[in-house]
Amino acid sequence: MKINLLIPTQFSFIFGFFFSVISMNAQNETYSSPVKQEIADTTFVNLKDYSKDFIYDMKYATEDNFLKAKVYDCAECVLRLKTVQALIAANKDFMKKGYKIKLYDCYRPLFIQKRMWEIVSNPEYVADPKKGSIHNRGGAVDISIVDANGKEVDMGTPFDFFGIKASHNYTKLSGKIKSNRAYLKKVMIANGFNSFDSEWWHYNLKTGLKDKVSNQKWDCE
Ligand SMILES: [Zn+2]
Repeated sequence: MKINLLIPTQFSFIFGFFFSVISMNAQNETYSSPVKQEIADTTFVNLKDYSKDFIYDMKYATEDNFLKAKVYDCAECVLRLKTVQALIAANKDFMKKGYKIKLYDCYRPLFIQKRMWEIVSNPEYVADPKKGSIHNRGGAVDISIVDANGKEVDMGTPFDFFGIKASHNYTKLSGKIKSNRAYLKKVMIANGFNSFDSEWWHYNLKTGLKDKVSNQKWDCE
């Protein structure tokens, strides 16, 4: 810590400790690049700084989404560190079988949640911003998987399909589609996530449900 250089040695330990605690708390709600020191597992980080093994198709950084608007400045997957760790573990399991996770959405600022709610005010598909989605807490991801050729595995509907066909409980699908959805769900649950009944693509980190809603915009540099 730079400030230590200006403080006599006998005080630097105490001050160093004091300022470390402050900076750890501050990091909880701000974007942080990976550093050698240990950071809280609730710190927001960028997935790409921890793994290069993901495929990105961040729909809200394009106009190809139900809002018909590009609402993210850049196609980054920002999440709390613990979500990143669980996601990397799940991806390793998929990679053993020749698949990789494709990301559609990660952390989502609260103001985006409000715009979504204005368009689709149905809690089966969009979380009420008054309560906040786990996306707003940095603990949810919208994903599918791609095969070794980068081809998306058939899940029966596109991402953000607002209808019963997107539900885990919908059974009038081919055996292949049902087994693809079941495989995605099995690996994600084994790695600490919960599924969401009405959306085959949505997964919540079990330990992320009580984290604070956050309304930050991340660094697009
Ligand atoms: Zn989602």
